[in-house]
Amino acid sequence: MEIFSRIWNSFLNIFGFRKNSKYVKGYLNEANMRSAIYMSSVIFILEVWLVIRQTDKYVIDRLHNEAYSYGPFQVFYSFTSIYFLLMFFGVTMFFYSLLYLSRKKQSRSFIATLISAGITLVLCCLFPLEIIFTNSYNANKGRDPLSGIPLILLIALYASVLLFIIAIVIASFHKRKGGENQVILSVLVISLFALTCLVFGVKVSYADFSGTAVDSGGNIIPNPDYKGIICFLMMSIYIGCLLIWKPYVSVGILGAIFLGFYELLKTVTIRKFPEGDEINYITFFISLTMICISIFNQRISEARKDEELVDLATKDKITGLLSFEYFSVLAKEKMLEGNMGSGEGIYLFINILGFKIYNEKKGFEEGNQFLRETGAIITECFPDSLITRQSDDHFVVFTKFEGVEEKIEKVNVMVGAKDPDVRLGIQAGGNVTVESGEKPRICVDKARYAYVHLKQKKTTQLLALYDKKMHDNYLMAQYVVTHIDEAVEKGYVKPYYQPVVWSKGRTLCGMEALARWIDPQYGFLSPGQFIPALENASTIYKLDAEILRLVCQDIRHNMDNGLPVLPVSINFSRADFGLVDIVDIVSKTVEEYQVPPYLIHIEITESALTDEESILKDTIKRLHDNGFATWLDDFGSGYSSFNVLKDFEFDVLKLDMAFLTGFNGNEKAKALIKSVISMADQIGMKTLCEGVETMEQAAFLESADCGRLQGYLYGKPLSYEAMLEKIKKGEFKLSNDVLN
Ligand code: C2E
Ligand code: MG
Ligand code: MG
Repeated sequence: MEIFSRIWNSFLNIFGFRKNSKYVKGYLNEANMRSAIYMSSVIFILEVWLVIRQTDKYVIDRLHNEAYSYGPFQVFYSFTSIYFLLMFFGVTMFFYSLLYLSRKKQSRSFIATLISAGITLVLCCLFPLEIIFTNSYNANKGRDPLSGIPLILLIALYASVLLFIIAIVIASFHKRKGGENQVILSVLVISLFALTCLVFGVKVSYADFSGTAVDSGGNIIPNPDYKGIICFLMMSIYIGCLLIWKPYVSVGILGAIFLGFYELLKTVTIRKFPEGDEINYITFFISLTMICISIFNQRISEARKDEELVDLATKDKITGLLSFEYFSVLAKEKMLEGNMGSGEGIYLFINILGFKIYNEKKGFEEGNQFLRETGAIITECFPDSLITRQSDDHFVVFTKFEGVEEKIEKVNVMVGAKDPDVRLGIQAGGNVTVESGEKPRICVDKARYAYVHLKQKKTTQLLALYDKKMHDNYLMAQYVVTHIDEAVEKGYVKPYYQPVVWSKGRTLCGMEALARWIDPQYGFLSPGQFIPALENASTIYKLDAEILRLVCQDIRHNMDNGLPVLPVSINFSRADFGLVDIVDIVSKTVEEYQVPPYLIHIEITESALTDEESILKDTIKRLHDNGFATWLDDFGSGYSSFNVLKDFEFDVLKLDMAFLTGFNGNEKAKALIKSVISMADQIGMKTLCEGVETMEQAAFLESADCGRLQGYLYGKPLSYEAMLEKIKKGEFKLSNDVLN
């Protein structure tokens, strides 16, 4: 049974019965159009040659023959009319094929097609002259006027050319308008082109086959110049080449034509089809259809491969939406078209809320399915828009600004309804278009920026639009990212030092190095202005490594000059961990400046611990092995989990200043701080409280047994020189023991 179904499938494939995708159809059609360029060029050259030949062979001779009483136009026209007709018919097809294949809307081929179609139409309208002249020629020769099959074939030829011209004019205007029926119209044009070629072949070969002459005895004999049915066969090859889009169509049409022509020749009484040639005739037909089939199958496989490649480049694998690259190309075109310009269009960066949880709960496959469904929802809510998935659960839409908020709300509701157990929804950043020349990539980046802004605000608002303030921040972020290397190289980046004191005795026991960027253009920049941008660009490690180097340099300088030496804690960003080997960087820098490891503390923020756990654990362990203390920064600022304290081996716990906000009179805050400190103590961690601003806070923290204090009460971050100056002046009491 299986063998039969295989044979049946091969049959369907070979003869083109399978349905093809729109892309494959377009590909085949374009291939046919390219063939049409060659075929029409050949027709043109052939007809030019025939006009010259006819003029040379008959026209000149007849014009000098006095027995001939016609005017020059009549003689010329009688012998060349059909060839001129076909010549311009070929030219029209040639230009139309160029027009069809042209990607430009304003193509010169459009004008050229119309002009040549016009000339062909005029030649068609001269049809009555053709009849009058032929009949008068026949009368002169003592022959009957045109009638029967020759007349029908002549009318058919002109009618076919006329239909072809009408079709080509309609198709050309349609193409110019960018209409949707281009493929169908072009198939119609090609079919009429093929039909005309065939009718011409049949007409010429029939005339030749049935042609007569008068012998010396005055008897009517078959035309002795008979060349066989070459013209018909040649024209069959022509249409064979043009009918390659469906083998069953080629076989059908060619079969009908061959049979019809054979039947037509049988009506001729003066000459019989040579019997042996019937075999050749059939063989020719079979070979021709085989060639059509084989070319078709080759083109189909090329088309499918091509389609796969195009899919890869233009579609997102998971959702089937546009790929981001292709989206950018189309968005650029759309903006240049002019109806999405200033204020009319908007780029949306949409993030799915709760997707991570959904993915973890349901698994990878269902996660992908959910992304596909979300893509479909967005497509439904934003018709006539460009939609892509930029990465993970981030979608980007380029659409009309009007009504955008309602559409976002609709998407939010529909996405939210997908799974009642997980809180799903969307939030978006929008960037309204300003001018048509903007690069889509940058527009999307700004929309994303607006979204990040919304995310940081932690609101339930669905859409935030990119505004002037964000624009300034965006420019600053761009500046920072593109200038970090220069800033490091030219020394714009510097550590500022903030004192850390023992809570018992308030003697200076260390400092925290906090980065500052003193820029020649923007002036003094604080971390909030450059750290998030560098983290997003994954280049924060450059800054961190430089701060570490400068700190080591300063310590070395103090050691070499007999100045006080204190441990310094250095901040490392969460973004560093996956990117570079922090342990390696720290060890090498410390070695380069010959700084003992106990003088360097590594601060890691609490939020970093939610990322790659194993990398972090390993890093902390290796830092310990190399003699560096690790401090847990900002504890209590985010969603603190006590598991963090259990799972990671930190030496010091830095309580975030959030613990101290609203401290005055807040007994709960005090109780909380006390218990966190005591718990840290029980698990062998030392404590430091940041943001200490008042004496009361300090006194309370001391009573709660917090080890170290840091805050404006003891000093703001200062440059190395300023800090050294203060120490030299004796403004800080240095501790004898900086380690406990
Ligand atoms: P952080 O590590 O928690 O640093 C403490 C921040 O609190 C510093 O802000 C400091 O100036 C500020 N501060 C200290 N005492 C007080 C106080 O009594 N009251 C108030 N209101 N603020 C106080 P800064 O310098 O703006 O740094 C902000 C954050 O930027 C730092 O928080 C740290 O996470 C990050 N950062 C700073 N320098 C670097 C660096 O070199 N690398 C990395 N990756 N991050 C850095
Ligand atoms: Mg810190
Ligand atoms: Mg901190």
